[in-house]
Amino acid sequence: MIPHNKPTLGKEEEIAALRVLRTGQLSNGDEVKKFENEFCEFLGLPEGHAVGVSSGSSALFLAMKILFNKKETITIPGYVCSALRNAIELMKCDIDFLDIKKNSPNIDEKVIRENSNPKIIPHMYGIPVNIPKLRNGTIIEDCSHAIGAKVNDKFVGTIGEIGIFSFYVTKLMTSGGFGGMVVSNDLSKINEIRNFIEYDGKLDDKFHFNFQMGNLQAAIGREQLKKIPKFLQRREEIFSMYKEAGLELIDVEDDNDSIKPVRFRALMKTSKSKELIKKLRDNDIISVTIQNDPIMSKYPTKFSNSLELIEHTISLPIYPSLLDEEISKIISVIKN
Ligand SMILES: *Cc1c(COP(=O)(O)O)cnc(C)c1O
Repeated sequence: MIPHNKPTLGKEEEIAALRVLRTGQLSNGDEVKKFENEFCEFLGLPEGHAVGVSSGSSALFLAMKILFNKKETITIPGYVCSALRNAIELMKCDIDFLDIKKNSPNIDEKVIRENSNPKIIPHMYGIPVNIPKLRNGTIIEDCSHAIGAKVNDKFVGTIGEIGIFSFYVTKLMTSGGFGGMVVSNDLSKINEIRNFIEYDGKLDDKFHFNFQMGNLQAAIGREQLKKIPKFLQRREEIFSMYKEAGLELIDVEDDNDSIKPVRFRALMKTSKSKELIKKLRDNDIISVTIQNDPIMSKYPTKFSNSLELIEHTISLPIYPSLLDEEISKIISVIKN
């Protein structure tokens, strides 16, 4: 069977996890600190500008907790992972849902200039949103799909006020199942988050909550981060193989050298998504349609682009360990 997704784990992750286990130091943060600083180095940020957390969801919550000190209305696309809605509800903020652009999984850059609400902007499927310098409202970049993607030579996550990453098992890299990272150019924001998530021994009678990452997660994350350039390259190869075979994939809109995507998902356009998913499944290949916020089917006109994309695309297997012969098989079943 060819699964839709699979983490790519090797001996290096095993050895790293064992190394940490044998020290017995699982929660002192030593390994987490190293992971954070290597993550900064990867993104071209100075040391200290990243904080490891328990998940992408907690990263989203923490970003909002530190940026907003009153009840806000947060703008997000309806076409996105439900983690955004959940984090906003935990913050007791209101949500302003937007449709995406036509033929793109992302919201329109124009909105970023015009809509004055704080926004969470996901770079969907690794396709970066070109966030303009001149903008209205605070921006949290959700880079859960887009570690390594760039706009104008800057890594996504370093452009908005705060960037968040998820290391859940299905993402571009994992820190052993769950994990996340918050980054910012503003060191004080990261220090505030660090302070918030450490509650033990704090005598400041302020509100704290444990969203910390452990050393085991960090040790695995460090090994995966080392492999990220190779992972991204292999994903690019697979994406190209699908394209060269003539499959119509959702991609950056215009070939623009300043936009450098990564290939988190291969979303193929098709007018027969249900039949194709079944046909692939009959051949032991798992493809899926994309889930979305149920709010959208209530307002089909407002969310017409999102609903159109959901109905007319399927997500094909794409991950570093996918073999060339598996890719050929997927292509031949689709073309048949
Ligand atoms: C996966 C994901 C999240 C949530 O991350 P978890 O680590 O699963 O909590 C947030 N945003 C997007 C866009 C995601 O894909």
